[in-house]
Amino acid sequence: MKVLIIGAHGKVGQIITKKMVESNDFEPTAFFRKEEQKSVFEKIGTNTVVASLESDIDSLAETIKGYDAVVFAAGSGGKTGDDKTLEIDLDGAVKSMDAAKKVGVNRFVIVSAIGADDRKIWNQFGIKPYYIAKHYADRLLISSGLDYTIVRPGALLDEPETGKITTTNPMDNKSVPRADVAQLILEALRNKSTICKIIEFNQGDIPIAEAI
Ligand code: NAP
Repeated sequence: MKVLIIGAHGKVGQIITKKMVESNDFEPTAFFRKEEQKSVFEKIGTNTVVASLESDIDSLAETIKGYDAVVFAAGSGGKTGDDKTLEIDLDGAVKSMDAAKKVGVNRFVIVSAIGADDRKIWNQFGIKPYYIAKHYADRLLISSGLDYTIVRPGALLDEPETGKITTTNPMDNKSVPRADVAQLILEALRNKSTICKIIEFNQGDIPIAEAI
């Protein structure tokens, strides 16, 4: 499966890219925004494309054309202002969906965040605009007609992969290693039953493929 990973230079994006390169069934292309980031992907040994989510839908469509699936793992990060959260996490995601639709790339997996549908928790962590961006990006993906999977982890950890998650009462556990999020994305792409599904999860006791 030829997969374009948008946000491939990010922490989750790099793990997804490596895992796909090491797999037998994925052919990843890393989408990142700076020429100087290329060396990361030369080491991983994958195809690359330098592009920005700040570009228009037509340019994004040209970039997305020809893939079997898009993984959207980008985000403006915690150090930018709310304007960038809106521009990347919301509008960047929606432009990518529109672009994918335009060129007939129907499979679209997005990394969202646990709690994105629960307005009661949006005020709890001081990042309400982030939750709003995730919520409306997800809503627009659901109504886009694309074959979506929305992946909603809790707090992300740079800890070793466990291979196990929980999707039952996932808010009871607070966090999950990024490597497990990456593995879940590969499994979601392998498993068509994840199409039109939202997967809320955190670290747990169930092997990822089984949980899916
Ligand atoms: P990350 O390391 O910050 O990666 C995000 C990537 O998006 C970065 O590589 C960044 O590029 C890229 N990006 C930003 N603006 C861009 C643009 N204009 N064009 C192209 N790429 C752009 O994030 P992560 O830790 O891997 O997280 C992945 C996803 O999980 C994010 O959507 C995040 O919101 C979500 N999430 C995070 C948490 C958490 O606890 N942190 C919890 C749940 C969900 P540069 O490398 O050039 O900056």
